[in-house]
Amino acid sequence: MSAPETSVSKPNTTLFDTFARAPLEFERGEGAWLYTRDGDAYLDFSAGIAVNSLGHANPVLVQALTEQAQKLWHTSNLFRIPGQERLADRLVAASFADKVFFANSGAEANEAAIKTARRYHYVSGHPERFRILTIEGAFHGRTLATLAAGGQQKYLEGFGPKADGFDQVPFGDFDAIKAAVTPETAAIMIEPIQGEGGVRAFPNAFLRDLRTFCDQQGLLLIMDEVQTGIGRTGKLFAYEWTGITPDILTSAKGIGGGFPIGACLATAEAAKGMTPGTHGTTFGGNPLAMAVGNAVLDVVLADGFLDHVRETGLYLKQRLASLVDQHPTILDGVRGEGLLVGIHGVRPVPEIVAALRGQHLLVAGAGENVIRLLPPLTVGRAEVDAAIEKLDAACSALEAAADAARLSA
Ligand SMILES: *Cc1c(COP(=O)(O)O)cnc(C)c1O
Repeated sequence: MSAPETSVSKPNTTLFDTFARAPLEFERGEGAWLYTRDGDAYLDFSAGIAVNSLGHANPVLVQALTEQAQKLWHTSNLFRIPGQERLADRLVAASFADKVFFANSGAEANEAAIKTARRYHYVSGHPERFRILTIEGAFHGRTLATLAAGGQQKYLEGFGPKADGFDQVPFGDFDAIKAAVTPETAAIMIEPIQGEGGVRAFPNAFLRDLRTFCDQQGLLLIMDEVQTGIGRTGKLFAYEWTGITPDILTSAKGIGGGFPIGACLATAEAAKGMTPGTHGTTFGGNPLAMAVGNAVLDVVLADGFLDHVRETGLYLKQRLASLVDQHPTILDGVRGEGLLVGIHGVRPVPEIVAALRGQHLLVAGAGENVIRLLPPLTVGRAEVDAAIEKLDAACSALEAAADAARLSA
C-alpha cells in the first residue's frame, strides 16, 4: 500500500548534510510565485539566490531551452559552439570586455578570473606576481581557491591549509589596500556590492580610486559580479554605476535565469596569457546553457527593461523605508541598488526569515544580520505591494510574540 500523500516529505538521510534547508518543497513556479504540491503560493523574493532573474517558468526561457533540447545538448569545447560565440559577442558588445570564457558556476568563473590574472603577469615577465587582494566580508565561492579568496574562517575550517596567494584587507579601508600590496600582488578582486556579506556597497569614489591605484601599480582589477550582474542593480553590470571599468569581471547567477552558467569576461590585454591549453571545461558553454543565456539577454537588453528594474527597485526601497519606520524593534535600515536590496534586522535574521516564511514570503539571509530581497527582475508594483503586506504582517506577528513573552515574564 502506498503511503498517504502529505505536504511534508519524510526527512532525507541520503544527501550530504551540508544544507540547513527550510521544511518546504515546491512543485512548480510562475513568475515571482512558487507553489507547493498542495497549491500553497509563496512569493519568491529570494529567486534562487538572485538566479531566477526572469522569474519561474518564463515562457521565453522555456521555449529557448526546449527548442535547443530537441536539436543538440552538448558537444564539448572540442568544437565550435555557435550559441557560445553569439553570447560572447553580445556580452562583449554590451560591456568593457573583449573576451569571454564560459563555465558553470560563480566559483568556476572566479577560478577562471584568478587564473587569468596570474597568467597575465606570468606572460608579462612577472611570474612572481600571483597574489590576489580581497576584501573582508567577501564571498567568492566554495572551491578551495575561491574560499581562500573569500577568506571567511567559518568556511575554511577543517579543509586543510588555506590555498596560498590571497591576502585580505578590511572593508572600505583604502590605506589598508595600499599597505597590503607587495611586489607579488597580481590583482585586486572585489564585489562592487557585497551580496552574501550583507548588501554592502562600496562608494563609487572608492572604486574609482581603486581603479587609479591599480593602474599606478600595474595591478588587474577583478570585479566579482556573480550576484550584481545581469541587471540586478538596474544596469547590465554594477560597474556601470561607477564610471570605471574592471580588467576582468565574473558573472553567473542571473545570467542563466536558473540554468547553471558562469562567465569570465576580460579585456584582450588581461586575457593575453590564456592561450590554447591553459584552461578548460567539459560542460562550460554548452549549447543548452547558451540557448538560455542568449534568451536571458534578449529580455534584459530589450528597450526599457533595465529602466523597469531601476523604477521597481526605487519603489521597493521607498515602501521599505516607511515599513521599517513602522517596525523599529524588528527592522532598521534599507540598503542596496536596484533589486538587490538589504534590510538590516534588529531581531536575529533567522527569526525574521522564518516569520516571513510564515506569511509565504521567501527571502535570503546575508551577513551583518541583513535579509536580502532578490526578486525576479520582472516583478512590478503589484508584487512589491504584496511583499510589503507580507513583511508588515510578519513584523506585526513578531511584535505580538514579543509582547506576549514580556507579559508572561
Ligand atoms: C554566489 C556567489 C558566488 C559563488 O557562485 P556559485 O555559483 O555558488 O559558485 C561567487 N561570488 C559571488 C559574489 C556570489 O554571490
